[in-house]
Amino acid sequence: MDNTERLRVLELYSGIGGMHYALNESSVPAEVVAAVDVNTTANEIYKHNFPSTPLLPKTIEGMTLQDFDKLNFDVILMSPPCQPFTRIGLQGDVADPRTKSFLYILELLPRLSKRPSFILLENVKGFETSAARDALLKTLRECDYSFQEFLISPTSLGIPNSRLRYFLIARRPPGSFSFPTSILEGFPMSESSNSLAVPHNHPTSSECEREKTGTIIFKLETEEELERKRIQDSQETVRRLQDFLQEDEEGMDQYLLPPKTLLRYALLMDIVQPSSRRSVCFTKGYGHYVEGTGSVLQSCVDVELEGVFKSLELLSEEDKLKQLSQLKLRYFTPREIASLMGFPADFTFPKHISIKQQYRVLGNSLNVHVVSQLLLKLHFASFDSTKQKICVYID
Ligand code: SAH
Repeated sequence: MDNTERLRVLELYSGIGGMHYALNESSVPAEVVAAVDVNTTANEIYKHNFPSTPLLPKTIEGMTLQDFDKLNFDVILMSPPCQPFTRIGLQGDVADPRTKSFLYILELLPRLSKRPSFILLENVKGFETSAARDALLKTLRECDYSFQEFLISPTSLGIPNSRLRYFLIARRPPGSFSFPTSILEGFPMSESSNSLAVPHNHPTSSECEREKTGTIIFKLETEEELERKRIQDSQETVRRLQDFLQEDEEGMDQYLLPPKTLLRYALLMDIVQPSSRRSVCFTKGYGHYVEGTGSVLQSCVDVELEGVFKSLELLSEEDKLKQLSQLKLRYFTPREIASLMGFPADFTFPKHISIKQQYRVLGNSLNVHVVSQLLLKLHFASFDSTKQKICVYID
């Protein structure tokens, strides 16, 4: 393909523009000719950061075949709503009304006057076993795409944050292209590490929900869980959280966990230190619900975590609080989460967007670095559709 021509990209379910940032990072010559999303808050943030990108604040199913044809796009980047496929959700799959717009896209694809050359889709782990995925693969085959599926967590790129997600990249015309390009040097997703089996019960695959088995050591954690965390923290290929933290102490007090939360949830929280090389997936309820929505940071490390939690149960509420407060537990700021998710420093929120809204939209978004790597692979590398296995990159 001619690299001097810029690809015309359609960004569906654009949210706060994670796909757009990934495209920029990949340096694939392209421009977003339209972004589509119905969420007002997400759209305000998108516009704030990409003022010159045409943003269509409407539903996808509200657009006609002609509307799509007019955009004359070469690439579709999309993150359909994931709730129908999450294991914590009801798994409504294709019966869930939120899947309607996705099925509509599948219906449109064969009827477009020009089929896009590249497609990238992101969704939660769980999508790979859904009927929606079967429908997607069927449509892609009928439309002569070759494709490859992945389950990837940012930890595989050395980022101390678990966010296991399903990805599919598709390209037409079918067949393998081989581009001898230096861009792929050091590419973390080399063919040789391909086709691992999906690990059963892998720690990072837990999508923030955990099964608790075994004897509880302290802080409602089992020996197994502690060991897993120790292993994660000793992996030197993964960066430390401190690289992603905001320096300014000012204004940080608002992120300290309130006493009520400390008392009620201390034993259930996932606590990390600046030196840690891990954090659990940040979801949209972060900063609001405590359990399973993301890690909290122990900002005072002069105190030993284990010591604080020992015999906590025997203390009065007042002493408990005193003890826990020594740790100075705080939430990660939205900026810190954005950094962990690969958003560049120039990504900002409009002033009037509340912290809670910021957490919510970030929780719905994606890891920019992971998608950027996939875009490079989609654009430059070869991939083989005949391999029916899903490639798994966790750490
Ligand atoms: N990748 C995005 C987030 C996607 S989350 C990012 O980086 O932020 C899914 C998004 O789809 C949400 O923003 C939601 O508002 C939007 N959405 C859900 N159903 C839709 C529909 N039928 N039409 C248009 N947008 C929709």
